[in-house]
Amino acid sequence: MLSFSYRCSQCGASYAIEPGRLLCDDCAPKRAPGRPLRGILEVVISGDPPKEWHPVDLLPVEREHFADIPVGNTPLWRPARLREEFHAPHLFLKDDGLNPTGSLKDRASWLVAAFARKHGIPRIVVASTGNAGSSMAGVGANAGLEVRLYLPASAPAAKLTQALQYGADVQRVDGTYDEAFAQCMAYLKDHDGLSRNTGHNPLTIDGKKTVSLEIYRRLGERVPDHLFVSTGDGVIVSGVYRGFENLVELGFADRVPTVWSVQAEGSSAIARAFRAGSFTDPVPSRTIADSISVDVPAAGEFALQRLKRHKGRVVVVTDDEILAAQRHLSSGVGLFAEPASAAAFAGYVKERTAIDANATVVVLLTGNGLKDIKAAMKGVGTA
Ligand SMILES: *Cc1c(COP(=O)(O)O)cnc(C)c1O
Repeated sequence: MLSFSYRCSQCGASYAIEPGRLLCDDCAPKRAPGRPLRGILEVVISGDPPKEWHPVDLLPVEREHFADIPVGNTPLWRPARLREEFHAPHLFLKDDGLNPTGSLKDRASWLVAAFARKHGIPRIVVASTGNAGSSMAGVGANAGLEVRLYLPASAPAAKLTQALQYGADVQRVDGTYDEAFAQCMAYLKDHDGLSRNTGHNPLTIDGKKTVSLEIYRRLGERVPDHLFVSTGDGVIVSGVYRGFENLVELGFADRVPTVWSVQAEGSSAIARAFRAGSFTDPVPSRTIADSISVDVPAAGEFALQRLKRHKGRVVVVTDDEILAAQRHLSSGVGLFAEPASAAAFAGYVKERTAIDANATVVVLLTGNGLKDIKAAMKGVGTA
């Protein structure tokens, strides 16, 4: 039997996993303006795991509360033509664009929805630049939950349309994500509802770890040598690390992979902090990859801590490299990924010569190409 609690990633304080608990009481107020969140909580597992386990068993909500929507269990591609081209016989692509709403965000939405159902919370509230919102809307629709979404005007049409199709109560915000986030938090002050804001709600990190657990199982209970992850707020890369850390903590593995956090040149706060040692003043972000376009990365401190702890790497790619990587993936293997997703592959293309030819390398592809047709049209010269 396993039991679960929260631990502050900065001071180590313990908290119960219960409604209303988001950040560490002591550390969160120490956040400076224009800097990432402080006092992000991580889920700690104690007890002995069952011999036969499923990734859901390592999540902090019992299986019976999860909605019946097929999240995760996405394919691990063995891209023959790319393996030949790059002389990389152990290259794999994890295609999380095949989740129900088209992005890896479904993993987090699924756990947040399960938590809401367990505690009888009828409404979930979220600010999002696109994928987190459309994901919460879709998973929420399946789970029978009300979803209120604050969406900045810049969100691609497909993501807005998805959220409306799924029946979310969409509040369109004439401003940036920061403005949408502020409006979302103001609403939550006076109304009941569970926040699914990325990084704030620790379950958004923990839910994403199942991608690592699946990779481990699909590789025959092995940890890959290298893993490329595109990074904006730093929640996915943090969740990816938590998955491998869980495997080590539970005695299933003896190491975590070398994680390469890939950022767009025009939105590279975590890469800059990694090189400088800590976060500096924010720079307004500008990249074609909207899902990783972030001024102040919410989970930046957490991601930076783990990248340092596990000797991770950072890579920065240009928009041209992202668009070229998107076409390369599409034409090379028939996998159409949105720009933020293709960024991880661009990072691999850029750094692959630094990697041993016999290494097992997984490129995590986080979102479907149909999510942002305008960007893809630029890449083929039709826009
Ligand atoms: C959200 C997202 C990312 C980045 O995740 P962060 O947690 O913000 O670092 C990458 N790719 C896609 C498709 C996403 O939706």
